[in-house]
Amino acid sequence: MIRPFPVIESIHAVAVPFPNESHLITANLYALGKGPITLIDTGPKFPGILETIVARLKIKGIRITDIERIIITHGHIDHFGLALSIQKLAGHAMQCFIHAADLWKLSRQDIQKEFWSREADDFITRVGIPLNKIKTIKSRFSFLKTLCDPVEDVLPMEDGDEFCGNGYHLEVVHTPGHSPGACCFFESENKILFSGDHVIKHITPNPLVELNRNQLRNPNYQSLKSYLDSLEKIMKLDVRWVFPGHGEYMNGLKDIITSYKCHHRQRQEKVLRAIKEKPRSVYALIDKIFPVLPDSELFLASSDIWAHLEILLNDGQITLKDSGPPEIYQAI
Ligand SMILES: [Zn+2]
Repeated sequence: MIRPFPVIESIHAVAVPFPNESHLITANLYALGKGPITLIDTGPKFPGILETIVARLKIKGIRITDIERIIITHGHIDHFGLALSIQKLAGHAMQCFIHAADLWKLSRQDIQKEFWSREADDFITRVGIPLNKIKTIKSRFSFLKTLCDPVEDVLPMEDGDEFCGNGYHLEVVHTPGHSPGACCFFESENKILFSGDHVIKHITPNPLVELNRNQLRNPNYQSLKSYLDSLEKIMKLDVRWVFPGHGEYMNGLKDIITSYKCHHRQRQEKVLRAIKEKPRSVYALIDKIFPVLPDSELFLASSDIWAHLEILLNDGQITLKDSGPPEIYQAI
C-alpha cells in the first residue's frame, strides 16, 4: 500500500499495484476534469489491470465512457499499454497524445519489429554481456512486448502545448532523458507536476539508452545529459506536489532533484575511478559497480554505465582503448 494521494475535486489518482512485487510498486494513472475526462497514462496490459482501473474509476464516479482523451507521459509499455483497450472499451473516438519524439514507439511496426532492434544487438555486443545472459535479456524484452497494444491515430504534442478542461489546466513540459519524448505535465492551479518516470520517489529514474533509429551514440541526444538538463527545467516550476508514474506522490521537488544530481555525480566518480584503476568494458564496470545484480537488471545497469561513459567521453576524461567488441575504455 502507498500513502493516499491528496484529495482534489477534479484530479483523481488511480495507483494500480504491479503484479510480482515489481520494484515499480504501482502504475499510476490520473483522471482529470469534472466533465469529460482527460486520462494521463494507462498502465500496462497485465491481466486484470484494466478491470481494476475500471472499478477504481467507478468508485470515484467516473465511467470509461467519460474519458475523452488520453495523454501519455512517454512511449514505454507500462504507460501506454492499455490505451487501445481503453479506447475500445469506451466505444467512441478518443484522441491519444504523446510527444512527437516518442510517437513511433506506439506503432504496430515498432512493437512487432523494432522492440528488439539491430542496434540492441550491437549495444549488448559492445557492452560485452556474456552469451548466456543475453538470452535472459532478450526473453525479458519478448515478455514486455506482450504488455501493450499498438495505438492507432496518435497525435503528437510539443513542449508548451496546453490541455484544458473543467477543473484543470495542463502545460506540457518536454523532459527528455528517460526517453527522448518524455514529458511532464504541469497543472499550475493546484501546482501539481505529473512527472511520469522523470521523477519517482523510491528509485532514481534511469536515463535509458535509445536502441532504435540510429540513436546509439547520437551526438545530438545523450540520455543522461538530457535527463540532467530536464531536471534543471522542472526545478524552475513552482511545484507543491509531484504525482509520478509509479509509487507515492512527493513534496519537496527541489530536494529530490538535488539528491538525483548527487547520485549521478557519485556514480560518475565511481565509473571514472574504476577506469583509472585499469581499462574496462561496460560489463566489467557493471561487475565492479553493481557486484550483486540479478540478470533481470542487467540491461538497465548496462544502460546506466553507458550513459555515464558518454558524458566522460564528451568531457575528454576517458577514451576508447579498444573497439572490441567488447569496447574497452581507458582514462586519459
Ligand atoms: Zn519509463
